[in-house]
Amino acid sequence: MENGERSVIVFTPTGRDATLIQETLKKAGIESTACSSVGDLLTELAEARAALLLAEEALTADCVEAIRGLINQQPTWSDLPVIVLTSTGQQSPATEYRMTLLAPLGNISLIERPVRPSTLISIVRSALRARDRQYQFREQAKALQSSNEDLERFANIASHDLQEPLRTIASYSQLLARRNQHNLDEDSQVFLHHILNGVDRMRTLISELLDFSRHTSARDVPMEQVDCNNVFGLVLQNLQFKIAETGAKISFERLPVVLGGESQLTQVFQNLIGNALNYCQRTPEISVYARRSGDRWTIAIKDNGIGIPAEYQSRIFGLFERLHTRDEYPGSGIGLAACKRIIEQYGGRIWVESNPGEGSTFFFTLPAAKAEAAAAVQDYAS
Ligand code: ADP
Repeated sequence: MENGERSVIVFTPTGRDATLIQETLKKAGIESTACSSVGDLLTELAEARAALLLAEEALTADCVEAIRGLINQQPTWSDLPVIVLTSTGQQSPATEYRMTLLAPLGNISLIERPVRPSTLISIVRSALRARDRQYQFREQAKALQSSNEDLERFANIASHDLQEPLRTIASYSQLLARRNQHNLDEDSQVFLHHILNGVDRMRTLISELLDFSRHTSARDVPMEQVDCNNVFGLVLQNLQFKIAETGAKISFERLPVVLGGESQLTQVFQNLIGNALNYCQRTPEISVYARRSGDRWTIAIKDNGIGIPAEYQSRIFGLFERLHTRDEYPGSGIGLAACKRIIEQYGGRIWVESNPGEGSTFFFTLPAAKAEAAAAVQDYAS
């Protein structure tokens, strides 16, 4: 913990309260810093501090507004404890007004004056204990972020470095196959065929891993208006051979404009439609539609494929989770994990509803682009 993070800020601008409080806290081994003006207070609050102890009469509208601004900007791990020493006696209109000002400050405890030193100490100690827990969460969040960054870097470097030797294996195996077309016996030709298949699989795996780490790194989250109709059109083009090969019927409604990144959303649509084509034992029938709720869109991709048993419906979004062998269905187990990370970066959710043997519907939510909202709703209504 850094200097000052265990220190309680005391803001009681009138009388001798500040000195008395600081003496009481000091006797209990609690560090404190007294502020004599709102300016001082804001400077102190700009750093992480253990708690804020205020006298009610210090709560002018300006002071509360300034504190609220800082409290609203707290990182997610932080919920600064605010302890307010209230006035004695009858509730006056002034007191009531101040109490209404306090509400938005969040984590507040009120203590009525005159305060016994033991009461003050126990309340401050309990605030400090809660604050310690928040600091522990901060440390865990930092450690997680740094290990995530390490993993992303590792995935990126490993996939780049693996590409090079793989290219060598691929070119020399192809050369060997070409040059010795007529000299190799049947067994050797089968062996070479397996090598080349393996190389192909590895190439796909590496390029999907690279995509995964490229598109899902936290630093790379474009937030632009993306017309899902364009993205969907591009994906149909990319998958045209697979669509023709399976004879799939694909129906769709007009899709919305959302906030996101075009290449990220292309990856999401392509993975989900690619899976709908892949995990199917009859002619695929796929429908794509969107529904609006508040400021979000839910986009659905429904198929008539093999379906997913209930107990696997959340597991399949994990990296490398697959329900079949590669001989049954080709794949690498990266696609849905990438979709999940992309959608969650936009504050959305992705899930599946499915009946094995009948089909699955994958849903994901995305923020609506404000400008298109009204027009799209009218479109659906007409
Ligand atoms: P991949 O398709 O490369 O194996 P994914 O992460 O896209 O990887 O999917 C994970 C697993 O979820 C798949 O292996 C499959 O078992 C299951 N799955 C995904 N989409 C569907 C679908 N539309 N219908 C049935 N099963 C699916």
